[in-house]
Order: sequence, then structure tokens, then C-alpha cells
Amino acid sequence: MVHAPARAAAGSPSIRINLYSDTQTRPTTAMKNAMMAAEVGDEQHGDDPTVDRLCDRMAQLLGKEAAIFLPSGTMCNVVALNTHCRAGDEVLAHETAHILTSEGGSHAAIAGVQINALRGPRGLFDADTLRAAIRARTRYAPPQTLLEIEQTANIGGGAIWPLATLGELTAIARSEGWATHMDGARLMNACIASGIKPADMCAGFDSVWLDFTKGLGAPLGAVLAGSHDFIGRAWRWKQRLGGSMRQAGICAAACLYALDHNVERLADDHANARSLAAGLRRLPGVDVEEPDTNLVFFDVVRAGTTAPALQAALRAEGIATSVLGGRMRACTHLDVSAPMIEETIAAIGRIIGR
Ligand SMILES: *Cc1c(COP(=O)(O)O)cnc(C)c1O
Repeated sequence: MVHAPARAAAGSPSIRINLYSDTQTRPTTAMKNAMMAAEVGDEQHGDDPTVDRLCDRMAQLLGKEAAIFLPSGTMCNVVALNTHCRAGDEVLAHETAHILTSEGGSHAAIAGVQINALRGPRGLFDADTLRAAIRARTRYAPPQTLLEIEQTANIGGGAIWPLATLGELTAIARSEGWATHMDGARLMNACIASGIKPADMCAGFDSVWLDFTKGLGAPLGAVLAGSHDFIGRAWRWKQRLGGSMRQAGICAAACLYALDHNVERLADDHANARSLAAGLRRLPGVDVEEPDTNLVFFDVVRAGTTAPALQAALRAEGIATSVLGGRMRACTHLDVSAPMIEETIAAIGRIIGR
């Protein structure tokens, strides 16, 4: 049985504090005004000036030759895997990677590739782990063709891959002749938190994308960047998957607005995440991972409750959170303020004290 997204139970209070995900932000009036004013054309024909402006700006920001506008981050990954790989190939990625856990099996269903699921704490792995996964080039082994990493690692707790590790991994990939792909859903969070420029962060990667709906506040859209040749081939996959659009400048305008107004302020989300972690750590029996960015994972088993029970109790107070892999996840973003963090800490303290 396949589950559609759950709707809120009848009679649940409306959500006052939304820590469920940084995808839950609503476009502001200023962003909507930018969308209303967008100059548009037929994007499928390459005639939408606002989409072109966004793609040029993203190619420059990410230090790549070209870029392509897609409706979602998932489609960026699906397009990239299909562009880099042939059926029967093997992709090397962390066992918690979005391409493996959260894309409906598209790597197998559409690209026909398998994923070698590498292990390591916080959604990260090191050079030794990658080297140990290299297969002998015999006719028995699947051809290994792509290294994929997430910056930041989502299920890893928003962990940032250190630049030095990325350099070691991409050097191994190059010497093996593999392509390299960075899932940069939250790349800007990594860049703002570390002070490393986006182009430097993805310098060793053949392709990289950024999501405009993860904390940047846009209603939809993601941009995938790479070489002219890669993006040319990616366009065929965009067409095949039904991702070519028409007057998409309306949406690209929201992404341009996000680049101008919502990137630097990610630092506020990281500060809010740190104060949430600090407040939770003071509560008895709550085990908190120190957040690198805007995702706070914590465990409440020692406090005598379970993540689903705490999630339900918070939801009854109008506070939305998520449960991932049996742990609580609270995500900060531009619709979450410092007072809301204090209120959440107090509510959790009350609930586990009952
Ligand atoms: C959210 C996410 C995606 C998918 O992006 P959508 O825009 O939701 O399709 C891919 N990778 C990671 C790491 C994500 O967090």
C-alpha cells in the first residue's frame, strides 16, 4: 500500500510554530511582488529572460559553465544520475543519501543504476571507506561511474562535509575515472556556516544543485549546474521527465529574490538551531546532537518517552516537528523566530516533566 501525505487530524490546532521542515516557508509579499513583476517567455524554447538570468547567476555562483532550472531538487538528482550514468552502473553514496532513501527508487526505476551504500557517522564517510568500496574492473563487477555526496547531509543532522574531505574524495573519484555529483539541497547553509564560497565548496564536482525551497523561501525550483556538455545532455532528461516548463520566469523570479534576500540570513537559522540544542540539553534525559547548521536531532528515550509521542504532544500545542529514524528532528528556517525557540524548549520541558 502506498501512503499519500497525511492530512492533519480534524480538530488539531493550527500550527503556530513550524519546525517540521525548512520546506514549509510561505513566500512573503515582497517575494510575490517580485514574481508578479517577472518578465517571462517560453522556457522550453530558451526564451524566458528571468530563467536565463537565474541560470547565469547560478552558474557563476557555483563556478560552473552552465545551469538548468528544474521544478525540484529530486528532479535535479534524477536528471543528474541519468546524465552521468548508464543502466547497470554503480553509484557510490552514503547509506542515508536522499537518492537512496527518498526518491521512490528512481535510481533503479528510471536510471537503472545501483547504489553502493557507504557508512559513516553523521551522513559522512571518509577516504578510507571510499577506497575500500572500489571494485576490481572485471566483467563480473558493475561499472562504478559516479560519486555522490550531500552538502549538507540531511539525515546526518545537517552535517557539513569538511572541504579537505571533499578534496580527498573527489581526488579518488578522478583517479578512478568516476564522475562526481553534489546534492546541494542545503549547500548555502554549509557555505554560510563555514564561510566557504559556494564555488570553492563544489570545485571538485562535475555537477551540483541548489534547492530554493529549503530555507531560501521560494515556493518551488532548484538549479542544477555543470559543464556546457553536461547541461546540454541534462536538457534531454528534463524533457523526458516532463520538467520543461513555459512561463517559468514567475518562479525563477522568486529564486532570484531568495538569492538577494534570504542567503545571508541563514546565519540566524543556525543561531536559532544552536540555542534550541542548548536549551534541550538542559532538560533531563534529552540527548542532543550539536547542530552544524539548521537541523536539530534529539533523542528522548532516556526522558521516558518516544519521539512519536513527543511529536504528537507538541502538535496538540500547535508545534510541528518531524521524526526521522526514531529521533526527533526540529528544523529552523525563516518563519521561525528566537522567541518561538524559547517557547518550544519550554513546551518540551513541560511535556517530558509530566
Ligand atoms: C529535500 C532534499 C532533496 C529533494 O529536494 P526536493 O526539492 O524536495 O525535491 C534532495 N536531497 C536532499 C539532501 C534534500 O534534503
